[in-house]
Amino acid sequence: MFERPRGTRDFNPSQAASHRFVERAFRRTAEAFGCREVLTPTFENVELFKAKSGPGILEEMFTFKDKGGRDLALRPEFTASIIRFYNSELRSEPKPLKVFTLGNCFRYEEPQMGRYREFWQWNCEIIGAPSLESDSDVIALADAGLKQVGLKKTELRIGHIGMLRKFLAFPPHDQATVLHLLDKKRFADLKTALARLGAEQLFDIVSSVAQLKGGPEVLDKAQSLLGQAAKESVEYLRMLGGQLALYGIKDFVYDLGVVRGLDYYTGMVFEIDSPNLGAEKQVGGGGAYTLTNVLGGEATSSTGFAIGIDRVVLSAGQEGVRMAPRPLDAYVIPIGQPMRARAFEIVMHLRMAGLCADVDLMGRGPSKNLDYANSVKARTSVLIGEKEAAKGVVALRDMESGKQTEVSVQDLVAALKGGGEPKAHKTGKKPTRRATKP
Ligand code: AMP
Repeated sequence: MFERPRGTRDFNPSQAASHRFVERAFRRTAEAFGCREVLTPTFENVELFKAKSGPGILEEMFTFKDKGGRDLALRPEFTASIIRFYNSELRSEPKPLKVFTLGNCFRYEEPQMGRYREFWQWNCEIIGAPSLESDSDVIALADAGLKQVGLKKTELRIGHIGMLRKFLAFPPHDQATVLHLLDKKRFADLKTALARLGAEQLFDIVSSVAQLKGGPEVLDKAQSLLGQAAKESVEYLRMLGGQLALYGIKDFVYDLGVVRGLDYYTGMVFEIDSPNLGAEKQVGGGGAYTLTNVLGGEATSSTGFAIGIDRVVLSAGQEGVRMAPRPLDAYVIPIGQPMRARAFEIVMHLRMAGLCADVDLMGRGPSKNLDYANSVKARTSVLIGEKEAAKGVVALRDMESGKQTEVSVQDLVAALKGGGEPKAHKTGKKPTRRATKP
């Protein structure tokens, strides 16, 4: 017996169906917002992630050498790859460039509920549109994706990194250290770091701002605490609130403690929580950033986000969202050995018409086959007997009601796609709920 690597999971058919359900909702929402899908490699040169996130990222990554001695890493996220791709090949695409991707990421973390070493993300970026409208479009997209999945209890928190960057006007490295501690809400360490920078007196103000959370009134408070440093950011957040109202988004809070420690975030930042998830409740986050120049290109403003699919699946499960797999439309049952060939022809006819259809592969009798159709939750069974075959018809049994009707082979696809009761002539058989012999 072999074990899975730590922090990885197998997905049984129902778990895989839930995962794909969420992915499908995200893909459709991104497309509905005019985003196009891109795909990037599962592994990249280590240097790419170091350039984006600093050498500290090494500890969080799965790194390895290939046979040519190159240092590679399994991707811990998508933004670095997308911006690398943009710099090298997508720069001349019409702006704004709206792209999304869905896939697995790898981080060397301590596994727990909602935190894995292999996990999946939905990532979207709008590149080259430095505007309030692209910020609001990105937030609306993340929010709509979660709503399309069926989540109702998420909390959207919006902040602005600009005000703290202006207020904490230290050299870049020191500013990054302070913001990182704020991001992690490590207030004791923050106090020490500020003292080291000779700015202990800022601690009370900064920690108060980082704890401001609520309606527009928190913007006034930030303004009075930070003074001029907050002016632009506060005005921006007010306008963003107005813009989001146009999308019907009113149920968000301003949270000035959303910092997202990394240096390339420049303006609006946001996070989305699903409170029913406990410790690992953050399902996603993003913001406005400039990364193209950090990765060797021209400075281009972008806004993007990443949402963790695994946590959304967990949350949707908790909220009772049904994420059932695509049902089997028809299970084809030959009655007697001579009808087996016909059964295979018919099942292929249904499959090529886009229906989900399966056929008896075990040589079972009709009664056992109906039991099987019930247990795999087939919508219908298609019974092929000699008498029916001679007439060019099949018996179509609705597995829910037990109602059985004769349908010509020609009309079978339409009857199955119609979804409801087949319209053909009744066989006169008594409907039964249980699977019985036809
Ligand atoms: P980040 O790229 O760190 O901003 O992460 C974006 C989202 O990805 C988070 O909000 C989580 O939902 C998800 N995520 C990040 N790391 C993990 C992990 N180790 N396991 C599961 N989901 C994760």
